[in-house]
Amino acid sequence: MKNPAPKGNAGTDTGPAHIPLLPRHGIRLFVVDGDGPRFANLFRETWQRLPLWARCRLLRYWRTPFCKGQPRGMYPAFELISGKSDFFWRGDSGNAWGQCGMRGYSLAFAADHLAEAGETETRYTVAHELAHVYMFAIKDPSHAGDDATAEWAHDLVDEQLTEWGYDLDTRSWTP
Ligand SMILES: [Zn+2]
Repeated sequence: MKNPAPKGNAGTDTGPAHIPLLPRHGIRLFVVDGDGPRFANLFRETWQRLPLWARCRLLRYWRTPFCKGQPRGMYPAFELISGKSDFFWRGDSGNAWGQCGMRGYSLAFAADHLAEAGETETRYTVAHELAHVYMFAIKDPSHAGDDATAEWAHDLVDEQLTEWGYDLDTRSWTP
């Protein structure tokens, strides 16, 4: 709460441009490619629909360093970057819309693919990746081993979304 909202920068001499994502929590979005403000708005819309307890659990998890000597202020890292970038792991399904790495401390979203897919799919992808983080946070067995990103783990993540009140069929939140 004490972290001031990071100011955006032009991305010239200090790395990629970044904009506030969850400014109250000092969390920012690195915008390598695509429309950062548009994505940040969709992200925040999705974040607000998560149950409060889930959001608190995620924030608490992110505040806990994942390893000794973790650089302060660097994680969780959120990036908006081209899905064609080598940064993206394409997985069994070839789905490169979003990715959750470093046990939920590094999230990346495919700027180009999500822009093409539209707002509804972007919100879904955000919710899905956040649910992955939640599974890491609660130490769900599906996210404990090396096969954390196996296909069945994604299905469990979608089940988690349903528990949060997300309707997978209509791709929307139940009121
Ligand atoms: Zn997944």
